[in-house]
Formats: sequence, C-alpha cells, structure tokens
Amino acid sequence: MSPRASFLARWIKPPIDSLLRLFYPEVCQFCFQREALQEKGYICELCRGKLAPIEAPFCRVCGDMFPGNFTGVKSFVCEPCRFTPPYFDWARAAAQTDSLPLQAIYKYKYGGSLWIEPWLSELLLECASKWINFSDWEMIVPVPLFPVKEKKRGFNQAQRLGRALSNHSGIPLNTELVHRVKNTPTQTKLSREERIKNLSGAFKVFSPDSLAGKRILLVDDVLTTGATCNEVARVLKKKKAEYVCVLTICRGTPLV
Ligand SMILES: [Zn+2]
Ligand SMILES: [Zn+2]
Repeated sequence: MSPRASFLARWIKPPIDSLLRLFYPEVCQFCFQREALQEKGYICELCRGKLAPIEAPFCRVCGDMFPGNFTGVKSFVCEPCRFTPPYFDWARAAAQTDSLPLQAIYKYKYGGSLWIEPWLSELLLECASKWINFSDWEMIVPVPLFPVKEKKRGFNQAQRLGRALSNHSGIPLNTELVHRVKNTPTQTKLSREERIKNLSGAFKVFSPDSLAGKRILLVDDVLTTGATCNEVARVLKKKKAEYVCVLTICRGTPLV
C-alpha cells in the first residue's frame, strides 16, 4: 500500500468501524451476552468453547470418529474406507457437526452472515496447522459450486475459506483448476449410493498439463458422507495428482 493509500485507509477506517459497530455491536452473536470483537467473528470465548473437537479414535483415512468405546486404540481405518477406499488420501476436520461451528456454517452460507468468517477461517487454519506442513503443498483447491448456485448465493463458502487459508499459510489458491459442470440436486436427503450417482460427471479438471507430483489440499465447509470431495479427488487423481487431502471445518452427519 502506498503511503498516501495507507494514510487514507487510516483516516477512512475509523468511521467505517464505528458505523459497523452501530449495526453490529461488539456482542457475541450466538449468546448475545458477552463481548465479542468483529475481528474474532463476533463470537465470545465461552461460545468458542462449545466446539466438539474431533478426538481419537478416528478413522485415519476419512477422519470420522468411532462412535463407541474403543479403549487403547489410537489409529484405525473404518469399515467403509477399508471396503471402498476413497480417492482422497485423508480427510481432517476441526470439529464434529453436532457443535456450534455447524450452526455458524449454516448462518454463514445460507444466511449470508459473512461476519462469522474470521472464526471459521481460524478453525480451518488451526486444523491445517495441526495436520500439515504448509511448505509441502502446491495448492489449495476449494470445492466449486455450480455457477448458477454461486451467483444465487453470492459467494462460494469453500472458496472464501480457502482464500483465507491461503493468505495465512502462503499455499497458493487455485480456483480455476476444477469446475462444477453439472448442477446436481441437493444431496442432504440422499443415501451414500444416491450421492455417488448424483455426482457422476459433476466436476471437470481444466488443465492441459498432467498434475503428476502435485500435492493438493481440497477445502470445503462440511464433510458428511465425503461423496463430493471424493468425486473431486477422483477427477484430480485421474490427472495424476500425487496427493489429494481434504480439510473441512465440520465432520459427521448434519443435524438438518
Ligand atoms: Zn457467546
Ligand atoms: Zn474412514
């Protein structure tokens, strides 16, 4: 930023901040009781603590937690991953779906509440820092939306979260590599098999070159059955991508 631009930004920013505070007072937008700052996504420390983390034992491939008591076992591969291994190498998430982050994601993507983004980006960055060395990865690829859907929503949540992760990690964001070329009906009420069928031919890789040797981080907001990320991983692996790993904020079965 030039000195002039930086001077202008300093001069203009405070009134904008005050205006924002008028519409969005610095109160937690989840409990409406405690102070919460804009740059923290308007969520207080206590509400942040309501996150249910993904804890061992969980499947080392798809990252799903084992629902029962599994004393002493730290690492295992779940039955679906053993019988039908996914195309992605592994998937990890910041939180279980039955916790506050899922509510936040619904507000964010269906309610257009972009003020939550700093918190969601923070969760994704924490998860990434736990599982990867940033320098090992060539690119971040957000799961694309079908253009009509993206236009209707006004943004692609995976792309925005991927961009935030890219800014913090230095891993380049690539939004042009994979496109969604088929508008698929919503997946929420479909079984695993129906989702796979529904997604067939939905994604296309636009790259004249092979992706041989490339290590790609696929980013999305929620991983449920994993069918969407699996289909994107399949088309990337077909182009010879070396590793395709998935990072999401939530993992598990959604409440709605
Ligand atoms: Zn709160
Ligand atoms: Zn698994």
